[in-house]
Amino acid sequence: MKKAQSNVNLEDLNPRMIEFANNIEEAIGAELIITSGYRSPDHPIEAKKKTPGEHTTGLAIDVAAVGGTPVYEIVEAAINLGCKRIGISRKSNFVHLGLDLSRVTSIWTY
Ligand SMILES: [Zn+2]
Repeated sequence: MKKAQSNVNLEDLNPRMIEFANNIEEAIGAELIITSGYRSPDHPIEAKKKTPGEHTTGLAIDVAAVGGTPVYEIVEAAINLGCKRIGISRKSNFVHLGLDLSRVTSIWTY
């Protein structure tokens, strides 16, 4: 995993998420570029929400993905590895991958 910017927090991710990301990298044969990792509840994006989102659990990452094939490969690997929460932004070129099983199983777009 590589940070897209220096302020991306990978240190506070749940170890389960780090293992999952390593397994995706192995499956797709490329290093993931992370645009968002752990976010504290007072992070500007989270503070706007009614309840803190999945990133505050350390069980979510946003992965840079430009173009249909990279998006497909990441989503395919994630599903094969048991991921049940996937958000896709083709406009902003990232895929959200979440492992918080207390949240609803879903695929959504931004
Ligand atoms: Zn996200």
